[in-house]
Amino acid sequence: MATAGESEIRRTSYAAVAQRAARLAGALRRLGIRQGDRVATFCWNTQEHLEAYFAVPTMGAVLHTLNVRLFPEQLAYIANHAEDRVIIVDSSLIPVLAKAAGQFTTVEKYIILGGPAEGLAGECFGYEDLLSAEQAEYAWPEVDERSAASMCYTSGTTGNPKGVVYSHRSIYLHSLAECSANTVALSQHDRILVVPSMFHACAWGLPYAGWLAGSDFLFPGRYVQAEPLCRLIEKERPTVSAAVPTVLSDVMRYADTHRSDLSSLRAVLCGGSAVPRTLIERFEQRHGARIIQAWGMTETSPLAALAFPPRQCEPGREMDYRAKTGRVVAGVELRVVDDGRVLPWDGQSIGELQIRGPWITGSYYGEDTPDKFDDGWLRTGDVGTMDSLGYIQITDRSKDVIKSGGEWVSSVDLENEIMAHPDVLEAAVIGVPDPRWDERPLACVVLRKDADAAIGDLRAFLEGRVAKWWIPERWALLDEIPKTSVGKFDKKVLRARREEGALAVVEA
Ligand code: ADP
Repeated sequence: MATAGESEIRRTSYAAVAQRAARLAGALRRLGIRQGDRVATFCWNTQEHLEAYFAVPTMGAVLHTLNVRLFPEQLAYIANHAEDRVIIVDSSLIPVLAKAAGQFTTVEKYIILGGPAEGLAGECFGYEDLLSAEQAEYAWPEVDERSAASMCYTSGTTGNPKGVVYSHRSIYLHSLAECSANTVALSQHDRILVVPSMFHACAWGLPYAGWLAGSDFLFPGRYVQAEPLCRLIEKERPTVSAAVPTVLSDVMRYADTHRSDLSSLRAVLCGGSAVPRTLIERFEQRHGARIIQAWGMTETSPLAALAFPPRQCEPGREMDYRAKTGRVVAGVELRVVDDGRVLPWDGQSIGELQIRGPWITGSYYGEDTPDKFDDGWLRTGDVGTMDSLGYIQITDRSKDVIKSGGEWVSSVDLENEIMAHPDVLEAAVIGVPDPRWDERPLACVVLRKDADAAIGDLRAFLEGRVAKWWIPERWALLDEIPKTSVGKFDKKVLRARREEGALAVVEA
């Protein structure tokens, strides 16, 4: 197990992590933490974060992973809502946490990882000081498998963050699913590079699943930009990783120009938003690493579906399936619903995806939200189709759907096709009001450096690739598409900018 640092890599063993987790549990107990109390982390992806992943739930408390990229108001809202008592914080993140700390109502103590604790008003303890005062053994209690183990708030792409609680049971079953041969098939032969933030849906479950499998771990710390990631991959040769599409496309660009060797990666899970087909194709052609599209949400632990081609796939059609959203993994059930009616698996009928299963949340923490559930099924807010082989295709989030002249335009498909143009770096499509058609798509595009495609070229490129009436007549060229705290295109911000008149929209 290794954690990247400023100049060197720290290495350790499973046994050492387990002993340090026992010491951490002892320290938390001495600080007054009891069964059911919330202990938060405000940390990068590191060995110490993993220690908290084990110490806190196993002692019967609840691990609450705080998103280090939230605005202070959101952070305070979440910490207060969860009633966190202690926060474990990386010293490099103290300045960020300090901006919210004045508004905390329940946090009593901070545990600081590395460096001095300047800037936080409150009782502060050094992580290593606490650990060295404890025994390397802890009398772990018997914990009910259905009790809360950890919690995470949705990243709030579409509104106020909501808390999702994972039980010991749900984490265990989700981990078994990630280890199974039909999914990621994690094993003791794997080295997992943990790129998804450990504050976001438990780094997609990889720390728990990889531990169950006995895999090696590589933690990038705070060095999650393309350059250090590529260097880490070349040096440490991980076999498995995961990332959102924007991060992977940064990695691909860096690796293209610097000829990085990424060939050790046998599987890279990619999800969090639709994965452009061109990203899957180019990454694999140029770097020999297999990208697997995954679908899920904070509410689904998060793995819900994976896009592997079916066994009976005709030769040459594999990519058609791999570019789809995927098929649900064994253990969860999915249905497509419109207006209270369950739709057929015909690949055409569009409705909301609803899902249920042992690692799918059945409620939000401390909130009564009956509108988010339908007879035990989670209403995902994702809209799409399911074909006869059970492959789902998300066409949009319900908040992002575009209805033009009474017909759906899929922003996901349009973005995919625009991003297939070699001069396009990023594309996000939003709906804008239109006097004739009610709504029309507006394409917000970032061109590659030195690219000279004109909007007319992009329009022409779409002809034959999408229905003619889908082709946007409104375009905006941007320097960058705004991103959410976990790196997804932030359409909420784009819509607000357009309403304020801050987008230079060209009609073409
Ligand atoms: P937030 O809801 O705040 O964005 P999540 O990380 O839980 O936080 O996001 C889950 C959402 O991300 C899903 O509901 C879906 O809209 C989107 N998503 C995840 N994976 C995919 C995928 N492979 N294709 C399309 N959308 C995806």
